[in-house]
Amino acid sequence: MQYEDFYRQSIEQPEQFWAEQARLIHWDTPPQQILDQSNLPFRRWFVGGTTNLCYNAVDRHLADRAEQLALVAISSETDVTREFTYRELYWEVNAFAAVLRSLGVGKGDRVVIYLPNMAEAVFAMLACARIGAIHSVVFGGFAAHNLALRIDDAQPKLLIAADAGMRGGKVIPYKPLVDAALNEASAPPPQVLIVDRGLDPQMTRVAGRDFDYAELRRAHEGVEVPVIWLESNEPSYLLYTSGTTGKPKGVQRDVGGYAVAMALSIRTVFDIAPGQAMFSTSDVGWAVGHSYNVYGPLIGGATSLLYEGMPTRPDPGIWWQLCERYGVRTMFSSPTAIRVLKKQDESWLKKYDLSNLKWLFLAGEPLDEPTAQWITDALGVPVIDNYWQTETGWPAITLMPGLELKAVKFGSPGLPAPGYKMKVIDENTGKEVPAGTKGVLVLQPPLPPGCLSTIWRDDDRYVHSYFSHFRELLYSSLDWAIRDEDGYTFILGRTDDVINVAGHRLGTREIEEAVASHPAVAEAAVVGVRDELKGQVPIVFATLKQDAGVGAGAMALAMQQRVVEQLGGVAKPSRVYVVNALPKTRSGKLLRRSLQALAEQRDPGDLSTLDDPGALDDIRRALELGPDLGS
Ligand code: ATP
Ligand code: MG
Repeated sequence: MQYEDFYRQSIEQPEQFWAEQARLIHWDTPPQQILDQSNLPFRRWFVGGTTNLCYNAVDRHLADRAEQLALVAISSETDVTREFTYRELYWEVNAFAAVLRSLGVGKGDRVVIYLPNMAEAVFAMLACARIGAIHSVVFGGFAAHNLALRIDDAQPKLLIAADAGMRGGKVIPYKPLVDAALNEASAPPPQVLIVDRGLDPQMTRVAGRDFDYAELRRAHEGVEVPVIWLESNEPSYLLYTSGTTGKPKGVQRDVGGYAVAMALSIRTVFDIAPGQAMFSTSDVGWAVGHSYNVYGPLIGGATSLLYEGMPTRPDPGIWWQLCERYGVRTMFSSPTAIRVLKKQDESWLKKYDLSNLKWLFLAGEPLDEPTAQWITDALGVPVIDNYWQTETGWPAITLMPGLELKAVKFGSPGLPAPGYKMKVIDENTGKEVPAGTKGVLVLQPPLPPGCLSTIWRDDDRYVHSYFSHFRELLYSSLDWAIRDEDGYTFILGRTDDVINVAGHRLGTREIEEAVASHPAVAEAAVVGVRDELKGQVPIVFATLKQDAGVGAGAMALAMQQRVVEQLGGVAKPSRVYVVNALPKTRSGKLLRRSLQALAEQRDPGDLSTLDDPGALDDIRRALELGPDLGS
């Protein structure tokens, strides 16, 4: 089917469209009503239908593909690869569910999962889903304070943690962080289940509170745990947003709508059919990890690769080697990861047989044109930018090669996904802007299946955070966008990432694009700083490619020239700093807020989501030494 017809039907006849899509999954009781929108902005999909995420991801495939690989968990840190067929996955998940039950976990209880990208993270999530417990995975890189915040909000009955994670060959003990978080939390869970890989010989246990997973598993191996059927709109899991712009929000997902969105998107967006292999390099702690390392590919009967480690260890060819070994068809990663690879020798991309690889999807932050061009040329497959938020749970703007591949336009994630009634509106008037004009990207309710149903135990915050910005009831993405004549949407950055230079409003993203168009630039961050004369002026922080071969001063000048050439004198950066690293969150998003604060000699604020503290020291040093251009 053509994309246009498909999309149009999803908007014009949503009930008919989604009734059709609902057939992609197994229901114990079929839905009685497809859509209830009597209480917008809340909406309920597939009302009265009962189903289960674990049943759809595991049990359902036993008849046809029990011996097919379901999950491959590769760790280049511990140097261990573990392969699980659907049958083996079934038994692992049942054992895990039996352990959960033995610890008193049941329907509606929250379970916080604090594990790195290891197979047990997938077992734990599916085991929760099986018994109707609500999981909340917290990214393993988060420190104690972040973990405590999420624990207090979710109030779990159980915390599942690893003894340690690893990064770049270094062991990072998790247990001391867990102990600290439980100390800090006002509602600590009474029990902790530890998945011990023996990485931290110093690990201590609290008697009566801490349990060993391997030990309990032995006692429950071979036990089959019945699936608990859940009404479509009951909560399946919570996932906290990464908190780039403030206090994280507990995004709550439903059961039936999410399962249908996964089944639909894995086929039509990611072009994965049963038996094919998908490799998402995300962490299970992010939305992409939930949807396209766990639920999407498994509901779709595919083989899912889960990777623990860095893209450059043991060498920068590791991901492509895995693509060759498992015949990966669709790969999913982030622009940040590709920029890391772009600093390395391109020959690593040519070493392996990638004849099965058809698509590379990238999401999470703006995909700049030079990076898109570089990786497209190097791989020789279409690179598909897709836009989504933790809140949406699946791409909101994308191309859908599983349906029909539309032309790729660099700089744009493409066209709205089915069910997303999307508009670009003027921030003041709330009216839709014409093609080519910048506005705020909004969604008209009802949000499609798969998107958040509310904020955990805070319906008011749900309404207030997302639906209170305009007179009309609209979901604000808080991102700027522009649509071209063909309906392609370009994301111009967050509504709080705008610089006002002498009355001209400039998006930081546009300036970053111009800077990064210089072939020797690896990555750029632009922030606005106070200026007596102009109100604000843009300043640039940039990292260079390894083989840039030009001095910092000359490069700084070249970057400034690029901006003037492409955007005019008004956007001319007043200072340019060449640095070694840029401060990013654990999810790879630039912390512009902190950069700006440092540049204005203010407190950089909450840095607990910062990935590499060294990057900030580097910025401080650069600011002290003075810019490579400007004063
Ligand atoms: P918080 O909402 O807690 O501040 P966050 O918005 O950083 O955190 P996410 O939900 O992980 O957390 O990120 C979603 C945001 O990432 C989008 O709103 C958008 O700004 C950006 N983004 C995601 N994909 C793309 C893309 N393909 N192109 C441009 N921007 C993107
Ligand atoms: Mg957000």
